[in-house]
Amino acid sequence: MESIGVLLMRPLSTYLQEELSRCFTLFKFWQVPSSSKASFLKQHSESIKAVVANGVIGADAVLIDSLPNLEIIASHSSGLDKIDLVKCKERGIRVSYAPNTSASEVADLAMLLAMATLRRICEADRFVRSGVLKKCDFKLTMKFSGKSVGIVGLGRIGSAIAKRAEAFGCPISYHSRSQKPDSRYKYYPQVIDLASNCQILIIACALAVETHHIINREVINALGPTGVLINIARGPIIDEAELVSALLEGRLGGAGLDVLENEPEVPKQLIGLDNVVLSPHVGTCTVETRKAMADVVLANLEAHFLKKPLLTPVM
Ligand code: NAP
Repeated sequence: MESIGVLLMRPLSTYLQEELSRCFTLFKFWQVPSSSKASFLKQHSESIKAVVANGVIGADAVLIDSLPNLEIIASHSSGLDKIDLVKCKERGIRVSYAPNTSASEVADLAMLLAMATLRRICEADRFVRSGVLKKCDFKLTMKFSGKSVGIVGLGRIGSAIAKRAEAFGCPISYHSRSQKPDSRYKYYPQVIDLASNCQILIIACALAVETHHIINREVINALGPTGVLINIARGPIIDEAELVSALLEGRLGGAGLDVLENEPEVPKQLIGLDNVVLSPHVGTCTVETRKAMADVVLANLEAHFLKKPLLTPVM
């Protein structure tokens, strides 16, 4: 398999890079200057048969079209919104993803963001470091335990969030495309009704045409001035301009965001807000999970090139 070219879109883990280099001819696309990317692809188009993408940089139609011998896109992520699946279907390109490796990590982060937002942990940390502790006490914050939690998308991550929030005594309700017959949580067919009936709204659904800006002005207003919005899914699910104005105008109580609409751009109005906790799209960024995700990518590539069934096929 050493002669097979694999195009890695982002650095991801050192372990993955080492293993890909050991088994294949590895091309590190992020190291190619933007102005040379097209000529680089042309030069190596014969040998590149696999692309390794993730949830931030996927494979669009232009990239896929420039690789005539492409056979498989192995995603290092569970989200597939950055891969042009229609184009892959047209071209008969196989796609694999890493769906079962990261739900607990991402759910942990959702809980962290919710608690950090309500208990103002980042602000409290700055308070202690600033040295004012001897002069005054830190302000009172809001409790997490027992608050009603609404989850948009009761899939792998959403279910893991529900399990965790239940342990904190939080009543759970959810919205998704379909009601889950084996779930005991309250189902809301309309996301606005979910927002009206919970105190913490956590976004855990896939990004698709139908979910783009599903969290709009009306939904944010329904959550209200004491409500908290958490997003560990994808930035464009929330209308970010509306989120920023609701926070500035006090129509929303706070937000914890691992993902933003135009990553890596951060709206400058968010930077100065103490009721907002930000993390840099790190839902799966633990040593353990990144190793497991890399192993899934490697196993899918090996299966494909040995003409065996993929471990985690999308198509
Ligand atoms: P999943 O198991 O496929 O669950 C996706 C959920 O989204 C399902 O409950 C689905 O509802 C719901 N959904 C899809 N389309 C919808 C729509 N039009 N309206 C309402 N709900 C809709 O996926 P997962 O593994 O839990 O991951 C969820 C998302 O998290 C991924 O797509 C990815 O974008 C994101 N993610 C983020 C990070 C991070 O680092 N922050 C890491 C991993 C994943 P049904 O069950 O009714 O179909």
